[in-house]
Parts: sequence; C-alpha cells; structure tokens
Amino acid sequence: CGVFGTLAPGENVAKLAYFGLFALQHRGQESAGIATFEGEFCRVHKAMGLVSQVFDEVNLAQLTGELVVGHTRYSTTGSSRIANAQPVIVETRLGPLALAHNGNLVNAEQLRQELEAEDRHLVSSTDSECIAHAIAQAVNQGQDWLGATRQALQRCQGAFSLVIGTPEGLIGARDPHGVRPLVLGLLSNNPALDDLLPREIICSDGTLSHPEADPLHYVLASETCALDIIGADYLRQVEPGELVWITRQGLQTQRWAEATPKLCIFEMIYFARPDSWMQEESLYSYRVRLGEQLAKEAPAEVDWVMSVPDSGTPAAIGFSRQLGIPYTEGLIKNRYVGRTFIQPTQSMRERGIRMKLNPLDDVLRGKRVVIVDDSIVRGTTSQKIVKALRQAGATEVHMRISSPPVTHPCFYGIDTDTQDQLIAAHHSVEEIAQKIGVDSLAYLSWEGMLAATGKDPSSFCSACFTGNYPIPIPEGLKRSKLV
Ligand code: 5GP
Ligand code: SF4
Ligand code: MG
Repeated sequence: CGVFGTLAPGENVAKLAYFGLFALQHRGQESAGIATFEGEFCRVHKAMGLVSQVFDEVNLAQLTGELVVGHTRYSTTGSSRIANAQPVIVETRLGPLALAHNGNLVNAEQLRQELEAEDRHLVSSTDSECIAHAIAQAVNQGQDWLGATRQALQRCQGAFSLVIGTPEGLIGARDPHGVRPLVLGLLSNNPALDDLLPREIICSDGTLSHPEADPLHYVLASETCALDIIGADYLRQVEPGELVWITRQGLQTQRWAEATPKLCIFEMIYFARPDSWMQEESLYSYRVRLGEQLAKEAPAEVDWVMSVPDSGTPAAIGFSRQLGIPYTEGLIKNRYVGRTFIQPTQSMRERGIRMKLNPLDDVLRGKRVVIVDDSIVRGTTSQKIVKALRQAGATEVHMRISSPPVTHPCFYGIDTDTQDQLIAAHHSVEEIAQKIGVDSLAYLSWEGMLAATGKDPSSFCSACFTGNYPIPIPEGLKRSKLV
C-alpha cells in the first residue's frame, strides 16, 4: 500500500494528497482514499479503483481542510472490497481519527478478538482497522493522541508504516523493524530554510524540532517519489520505532520502541519505484548494481541483453554494462495494463500478461538473447515471455534474475501468496529452467543481493529468500501460507 499525509494550512491539501497518491499508485491499485480535517470536522472520499478513477475535480473540491491523509490499497489481509478501503475513520472522545496503513500485522487475529472483547465494533476484515480501534480505545480511556498511539502500537506486532490524521495534528509511525518505508519531507518555497532544516530535524526524544512561530508544512509519504511530485524536499526517513507528531507548533519526535531495522529487501529489488530513494541512493542505482553483480556471478554469451520491462530494466542495464554486450528493448510493454501480479485470479493474471508485453520480432529474429528480470515468483510470467521470444525467432533464450529464488511467502505486507504457488519452493533451478523453457537460468546470490546494498546485511528482511522470518509468525498464520 501507499500512504501519504500532510498538515499544510493555506494549501489545497486534497490536491497534494491526490498527486502524492498518484505517484504511489504502483504500491496498490485496488482502492484509493483521501480524508481531510478542518478542525474537528473530517471529510473522506474513498472508492475501489485507481487514484485517477476515484478522484475528480468535483470530489476533490469538497475535501477541504488543513490536514490530509491518503491511501492506495493493495490487499494482503482482508478481501478487495470497499469496506476495507482506507483511510480507516474511527470516532473517539477527542474527535475522529483517519488512519492509513502500509504493512501487515502478524497478530491481527488476536488483536481483533481482544478489541471485540473490549466492545469495539469492527466493520472491516483488515488489520488496519484493528490499529485504529486500539488507538480509539486508548483515547477513550483518557489518553491524548500521542499517548494513545504509543499505547496502541505496543499491542501491534508485524509491519506497519502509519500516517494518522487527528483534529490536533498528524502522526507518522513505523514499526520497530521499519519493514515498510516511510519518509518525511517538507513543502517549502523558502530557500532560506534549506540549509537550516536537515540539522534542525534530528531524531531525539520529545524535542520540538523547529521552534519557529511560522509553521512548516511537513509531509509524510511511503516513498520519496511522492515528495518529488508535489515539489517537497526530502528530509529523512521516519526511523524504525519512531513516532512523529506534526502540529501547528512544529514537529515533535519520539522513539516508541527500540529499533531493530529490517527493511524489506523486496522493496529495494522490486516493489518501490526506481526513482525513490532508500539507504541514501535511488533504487535505480541499487538495481543497476544488482545487474552488474549478477553478470559477475552468471555471465551469458549472447548477442543482446534485454529486460522484462519495466521492473527488470535497471538490472538489465547493469548486466549489459558489466559484460559489454549491448542492451536492447525486445519486448514492448503496454503501460496501461495494471501490474499483472496484483490481479486476484490465475486466469486473470494469465490474460493480463498477454495484454501487456509484445515482442519485437525483427530485433529478436536469429539472435541469442539473455533476458533479465527482478524476480520469479510463480513462474507464469517468465514462461509466457520465453515462449513469445522463441516465437519471435530468438535462437537462444537465457534468463537471469537479479534476486535469489523466492522460496517463502511474505507475512509482512507483500502479497507473494502461499508457498505452494512459489515455483522455487518446490523446484530446483534446473527444473525451473526446464519448466519456463530457457536454455539457461541463473539467480543472483543472496550474499550478492545484500552486499550490493553497501549496508549491514542484518538490517534487512530477506525472509522470502530464506524462510528466516525476523518477526515471529504465530502458528495459525504460518499454517495459512506455508506448506
Ligand atoms: P512470474 O514469472 O513469477 O510469474 O512473475 C515474475 C514477474 O512478476 C517479475 O517480472 C516481477 O517484476 C513481477 N511481479 C509483479 N508483482 C510482483 C510481486 O509482488 N512480487 C514479485 N516477486 N514479483 C512481482
Ligand atoms: Fe520483504 Fe520478503 Fe521480508 Fe516480505 S518476507 S518483508 S517481501 S523481504
Ligand atoms: Mg516485472
């Protein structure tokens, strides 16, 4: 999912959220929603579909206010239906709250039972609603917004990057592992502020980062590409285990939990946009390095290096550069077909793939090609692509994958489905090569993938490649996806 929020009096906050969500569309295409606050008054519009389908000038004009929270949804828990669309709105003693969540709680079932025992009436089937009710419960027991959020987060286990709107201010929070990204930016047309800011905004407990009377317009978003689109400056990430509280007085930050960073490596390899920054560089640069590393580990003797567009492209460019073999486009993508992966059924997925990629016969005819992709999950895309390349006349088709074999399902907010659907869970690399019909197949090593980050390998989650889950999965949940 994609989350967005800002407190920006005097700005058209609904439009800021609209553009922010538009840049985060790749993070979820099932539903979109925006909630605005004007003092105690909360307005919301949410519906199934893409951001550009859900919103128009008319409904955006009705979303007036100074503070905004937005969400694009990709379902991992709870089915694809309007009751599960976010932001989640819940009434409290202190007025409404609007919550946007990216990630997945592993203790959602237990939390739901506890909340129902506490007489909270939940209307959706999502873990996100549980978080909102846990906060509302704490507010109604006498806590203020910040105290209530802190208390509620203690009850949550799993992955959560949150943006929460309240009548008093905007909250941003990340789980102690920081599995899903969340960044902080600043909307500013004042160049005088530029060199002052990064120093002022440091993560230290309970301090107001900016004492000035003139409030700054902070922005929270899943990825930096959502800051770029609205002309906001990137300040820093919200740290794992950090909670930020943005009011008209400025930004206050505190640590609600000790941090043990486990950023999802899949965000870096595939999920996030290549123009977003993580770990101090664009993901494009990281993905090019993955391709270079892959070429060192498993070169290929071919005429062309090509990619499965668009997600495989940066790695294909790195692969080509490393070997000095020219890169070419060999498959043209229709950009208006949604991500095949997010479609819910197998038959729809297969149809989607055929609609999406068209081979360039005259480029491919008589050529030996290596096709680079970021990952193989089920193997269905790859199989179809290889068949299409051969039909177009390629004489040899080799495949290189810029991540290791996906052998385990994700419980932290990426919908890689159940383990029995993962081709590498039950087949060796040779068997997969045979199934998808390539002349050779190689994956990037796990070590190579992590070394390319240039960071401490233990600060990432890579459980879908190892089965080594950094946040314990309750037995019941485990059984739902592991075989
Ligand atoms: P497969 O060959 O497993 O059917 O599809 C792999 C392709 O699906 C890759 O090109 C990858 O970019 C794309 N893909 C789309 N969504 C996802 C996702 O959520 N996870 C993974 N691993 N790959 C995805
Ligand atoms: Fe990311 Fe894989 Fe970990 Fe899920 S299991 S959080 S997809 S690295
Ligand atoms: Mg792809």
